[in-house]
Amino acid sequence: MKKLFALLCLFSSAPLFAQEYLPSVDRISKHIHTLASDQMKGRGTGSKENDKAAQYITKEFRKLGLLPMGSEGYWQPFTAKVKRVVVTDSLRKAKNVIGFLNNRAPHTIVIGAHYDHLGMGRQGSSLEKNPEGKIHNGADDNASGVAGLLELARYYTQNGVKEEYNFLFIAFGAEELGLQGSRHFLANPTVPLDQLNFMVCMDMIGRYNPDRGVGVGGVGTSDTWAKVFEGVEASVKFFTDRAGNGGSDNAAFYAKQIPVLFFHTGGHDDYHKPTDDVEKIDFKSEVGILNLEIKIIDNALKQPKMSFTPVS
Ligand SMILES: [Zn+2]
Repeated sequence: MKKLFALLCLFSSAPLFAQEYLPSVDRISKHIHTLASDQMKGRGTGSKENDKAAQYITKEFRKLGLLPMGSEGYWQPFTAKVKRVVVTDSLRKAKNVIGFLNNRAPHTIVIGAHYDHLGMGRQGSSLEKNPEGKIHNGADDNASGVAGLLELARYYTQNGVKEEYNFLFIAFGAEELGLQGSRHFLANPTVPLDQLNFMVCMDMIGRYNPDRGVGVGGVGTSDTWAKVFEGVEASVKFFTDRAGNGGSDNAAFYAKQIPVLFFHTGGHDDYHKPTDDVEKIDFKSEVGILNLEIKIIDNALKQPKMSFTPVS
């Protein structure tokens, strides 16, 4: 009887079967289909659909058992400002969605992706000729990155391993208005900035092109990255770039002298247009990219807290 009890305990705390916590085509597809659906109306900052997207992410964070680490539960609300075009509603409600995996470690790894996009084309930066009133679904930009964020959160919460670092998972708001969510977080951090080890950013990882490969920016932002990348192989082709100060929310972390990595499958004709649709997403390659990220992060877990090096 005692043996049976011990066995039961073992099973209840055992990790899920491998397929359940490794990145999956089905879940990535579901996340991107949901976030980039016409019902989400392009997740424009300040819209009720942007709010719906935040609620979807929050529900996933809660299911995975992440601790709320915003200023109001999982949410860190702030006011975003539309600056690129003149609109009557230039001040808009925005929020970051923040979940924490507490491994009782002294330092924390940040994993981030923005969930906002261009909405119905009334906030500037659309590349469509007459963008107003058209749904900018933003499947690649950046439902793909949010799907990656949720899959990495799943992996690190469900793999049955207590890592040497904590994890902070952040879905940023108002990135398309100029990194406003990440800047707000860094000005009002809910985990002290000196406890952060590095930040991994995913922005547009859904349009893998086998000729180009996935770009990994930021490898010059700490001397440790060279060690971390040693001998890393992947099912997808990838290349590295030393610079970490451009492209997305990683630039805001770089400005605070935090080492970064930035994953990106490259520009395309549908970039910032209403045609950035889910049909064009390569789910299988996104799984490959996330498995590569897991290898890199797992290697980084074996290293002491990184120190920052500027890339000149
Ligand atoms: Zn983006």
